[in-house]
Amino acid sequence: MSGPFWQTKTLDELSPDEWEALCDGCGKCCLVRLFGPNGGIYATSLSCRLLDTEACRCASYGDRSKQVSDCVVLTPQRARDFDWLPATCAYRLRAAGEPLPPWHHLVCGDREAVHREGMSVRGKVTSELEVPEEDWDFYLIEDYKGFGTPEHPLPKRSPPNPSA
Ligand code: SF4
Ligand code: SF4
Repeated sequence: MSGPFWQTKTLDELSPDEWEALCDGCGKCCLVRLFGPNGGIYATSLSCRLLDTEACRCASYGDRSKQVSDCVVLTPQRARDFDWLPATCAYRLRAAGEPLPPWHHLVCGDREAVHREGMSVRGKVTSELEVPEEDWDFYLIEDYKGFGTPEHPLPKRSPPNPSA
């Protein structure tokens, strides 16, 4: 079959370089996730301490597993199994045999398109380092461009009043 690698190859067939190129750079998988009742996994608008929130890139990608023990390194099998990956994740889409969206850099040739189209976390998140862990549930998000609405939302409270 002819065509670009991301359309014609399965995830298992990608070379290491092709695998890396498939990432759209959205940064959504680098959000802090909380575990709720009934096994629900909920995204927050807090980002991993290593995410450069402006560049939307891991500040220590090659060393990420050592520095952040719960950083998930994707493999073809995991891309198929992880239903918490955003619906827009290129690995998830290709694992399901779906095409890449028009704003994906492999399709449009522009790595900024994901940000321009509002499909990334750039400028929308706060580093986990800036918020005490007991306040993380203030940052739960119910829908984040593809995460979907949780079936069992955790209780939401008003954000703390800094002047109180
Ligand atoms: S959600 Fe998927 S496409 Fe987006 S940064 Fe993470 S691995 Fe890459
Ligand atoms: S260690 Fe890097 S790749 Fe892993 S979640 Fe954090 S920012 Fe993302």
